[in-house]
Amino acid sequence: MATSALYKTYARADLSFESGEGAWLNGSDGRRYLDFGSGIAVTALGHAHPHMVETLTEMAGKVWHTSNVFRIPEQERFAERLCAATFSDRVFVTNSGTEAVEAAIKTARRYHFANGEPDRYRIVTFDGAFHGRTIAAIAAGGNAKYLEGFGPALEGFDQVPFGDFEAVKAVVGPQTAAVLIEPVQGEGGIRPFANEFLRKLRDLCDETGTLLVLDEVQTGVGRTGKLFAHEWSGITPDVMAIAKGIGGGFPLGACLATAEVGDAMVAGTHGSTYGGNALACAVGNAVLDVVLAPGFLDKVSEQGIVLKQKLAAVVDAHPAIFDTVRGEGLMQGLKCRVAPQDVVLATREEGLITIGAGDNVVRLLPPLVVTADEIDEAVGRLDRAATALEQASVAQAGGTA
Ligand SMILES: *Cc1c(COP(=O)(O)O)cnc(C)c1O
Repeated sequence: MATSALYKTYARADLSFESGEGAWLNGSDGRRYLDFGSGIAVTALGHAHPHMVETLTEMAGKVWHTSNVFRIPEQERFAERLCAATFSDRVFVTNSGTEAVEAAIKTARRYHFANGEPDRYRIVTFDGAFHGRTIAAIAAGGNAKYLEGFGPALEGFDQVPFGDFEAVKAVVGPQTAAVLIEPVQGEGGIRPFANEFLRKLRDLCDETGTLLVLDEVQTGVGRTGKLFAHEWSGITPDVMAIAKGIGGGFPLGACLATAEVGDAMVAGTHGSTYGGNALACAVGNAVLDVVLAPGFLDKVSEQGIVLKQKLAAVVDAHPAIFDTVRGEGLMQGLKCRVAPQDVVLATREEGLITIGAGDNVVRLLPPLVVTADEIDEAVGRLDRAATALEQASVAQAGGTA
């Protein structure tokens, strides 16, 4: 196969795409696919969005990269707009989610160091978490499968059961720097933490001087119908990692912090050659132009409700295949009674791209610009895929009887 020169780190489908428009992708197999994966929650504005294409091509003819030795106006503007729209006052721009998480972990530790508490470096995380693939991020995620074979896990992470507030309380101590949490676990299977749980965490952090660090790499940039998912609970974090949707398909991420916390990262404490270059930040600004436009997020919320209702009907119609639907906005998960990979393959057969996740879940993450008609079409395809799976299992049972 042509991919033999690549690391074998991915079990790839034998399918590629030649072009796309909005929620649609044109496969190299000549078929049209409805893209309800958006990469993995990345192409927030769909494929070939005119404003994105225009911004990228215009910037490509000006300047791509100058390094962070110089001022980068697009980066400054990007950061100012993120701060104006969120809790944050300071931004470090990265190329990916795992780098944003890495920056968040370093920021949290450095903040306590700067406050004369260098031993305060431990970070509380949750079962089922995913924070990326660097050595620090796999230690934070705590998934044994991702840690195996890479030597001793980075020290300093205390993992507690999902949503177990008493366990958090018990483990937070004088060495705890931060609690790190995804408001809705993405790779873990669209598992939302209750708003009440997040509020209790915020209070506990305030009482103990612990930083609350959110990983909104997957939930952020409008995915749940708010700019950031934590807004549903009314809390704000001290530090937040973002990526995926913010670049709309261009590699871009950021670590956001309050002034007090972010300013602990003084000159020389962190850096990135590519991070925040002019081209990437121009694209990030183009995403913000669209997502921050009045009414855009309300529309995402509305479409999310439509999607969830229609998915609930499919779940009801196929109890042998699906158990429940859960999620917020355009971040929905179907908990399956069969192997999720079988559902992903069956939907692909019907021309619908979906993504598997932990906890037996299939994710639906359409672009934020998805239309009601496209949701209709996607749910129809999902329904046909579920019927095909039922028929296959009947045929199999008949064959073995
Ligand atoms: C995808 C993801 C990451 C890692 O992002 P990369 O860009 O793949 O490095 C981190 N945290 C969460 C919650 C994610 O979904």
